[in-house]
Amino acid sequence: MPDIESHLSDREVDLIAAKLAERLVAGSRSGSGKSAEAVPPAALGEGIFATIDDAVEAAALAFRSLEGSTLEQRGAIIASIRQVMAESAEELANLAHQETGLGRVEDKLVKNLLVTRKTSGPEVLNPQAVTGDDGLTLTEYAPYGVIGAITPTTNPNATIICNTIAMVSAGNSIVFNVHPNARHCSMTNIRLLNRAIVQAGGPPNVVCGAAEPTIASAQELMRHPGVRLLAVTGGAGVVREAMTSGKRAICAGPGNPPVVVDSTADLELAGRQIVAGGSFDNNIVCTDEKEVIAVDGIVDDLLRQMERAGAYLLDAAELRRLERVIFTENRGPGRSSIVNKDVLGKDASVILAAAGIEVRGDPRLAVARVANDHPLVWTEQMMPVMPVTSVPDVGQAIELAKAAEHGYGHSAGMYSRDIEALSKMARVINTSIFTKNGPFYSGLGEGGEGHTSFTIASPTGEGLTGPISFSRLRRCVLVDHFRIV
Ligand code: NAD
Repeated sequence: MPDIESHLSDREVDLIAAKLAERLVAGSRSGSGKSAEAVPPAALGEGIFATIDDAVEAAALAFRSLEGSTLEQRGAIIASIRQVMAESAEELANLAHQETGLGRVEDKLVKNLLVTRKTSGPEVLNPQAVTGDDGLTLTEYAPYGVIGAITPTTNPNATIICNTIAMVSAGNSIVFNVHPNARHCSMTNIRLLNRAIVQAGGPPNVVCGAAEPTIASAQELMRHPGVRLLAVTGGAGVVREAMTSGKRAICAGPGNPPVVVDSTADLELAGRQIVAGGSFDNNIVCTDEKEVIAVDGIVDDLLRQMERAGAYLLDAAELRRLERVIFTENRGPGRSSIVNKDVLGKDASVILAAAGIEVRGDPRLAVARVANDHPLVWTEQMMPVMPVTSVPDVGQAIELAKAAEHGYGHSAGMYSRDIEALSKMARVINTSIFTKNGPFYSGLGEGGEGHTSFTIASPTGEGLTGPISFSRLRRCVLVDHFRIV
């Protein structure tokens, strides 16, 4: 292939990139990724309400009915939700992909099934009893009431399913204000959840939503007197808003998860799993690997292993062309830049084509060797373009990872066989999830042990939220009696 850079000026390359990006966006609008306006307004009923006031009122009524139900009935409701969501997982994955134009259908299906199976249920709400000379003290998990939940465009259905299982397991009802760009797939999800609950003998409107969600309706929900607790899942703006709402808020915010690879790592494993994890749903999942920090001695081998695992390796000229497509504002070395929303979550082949880079097949990930201060290292890119940078030793790699994570405390990981290094990074990075020798989705329970959550509350400290996060602790003390020994 001729070296295009040597024949065209920077301005000409810019013009070509702008035209290709325009064509790509026009294409994605007419195919997958309908604009929010193209979706007809949601019909009311089955949990969908015209106003936040109406939705909160209905959810409050449903909560009172839930309060009167037995634990057995609550268990039946959660079992029915899991069954209906397993049956609907594929339909919802397709709907979300068509509407948002983000990610990959097959990965959305994995996410929907993961939350359906592995979000914790009522079984984790074990009461505690303490007995002694002074009698018996019981501590039980009680519901809050109506929870206001705000959900993202990146995992619209996985978040709604996960929040519902966790919040309803704890006995709460919910009003969702969903992302406007994922309105249709979210409303469909809310309807299906209502049907599942009613089929199991539960009350209607345990799960409610505003038919025309906007930022204004999200803010109204946050300040509504009928809402007892907030759970927000999204970027820095919505977290800031919830934290200043005057209500208790469980906040799941942004991340920029680094992965460190040291000289003791199994490089075949690291290369293969970083490609799998970093390309999961085209990198739009908040926990996905966002930058690779390797040590100098193994970085070339690691890149070869990533290529063998199906990644497309960009050369320096291709990276320069790509930068003009993926950033609308490149803020320069060492700074988080503004990414082009039109290529967010698109397939690597589509993004590369927009930069005029021809590739064969459908590479899961494009990979670029970059300097430590390249903006891709410092930006939550949410697209399958992975920067790989290197430093002389593992100590410096951990230091750079800590800085690139921006103190979000979200997710990080490492490939190493050195237990000292693994322990050091786990301690120093101080994230809600730290994954060793595996793709970051295993930290969510997909191919790793433990429950899952798609609301990972790092700013407020709950980590992978579950029924306990959405419960109030209540104590009941009986003085002098009921110790049986
Ligand atoms: P976003 O912040 O644009 O939107 C999230 C939700 O917040 C939407 O419903 C939106 O309408 C609402 N919102 C946005 N600004 C608001 C404001 N000022 N007031 C009230 N509501 C507001 O995020 P997105 O693009 O949908 O999702 C991607 C971001 O979310 C990434 O930063 C990602 O890391 C983060 N995220 C985090 C988690 C987690 O568990 N920590 C999970 C998913 C996504």
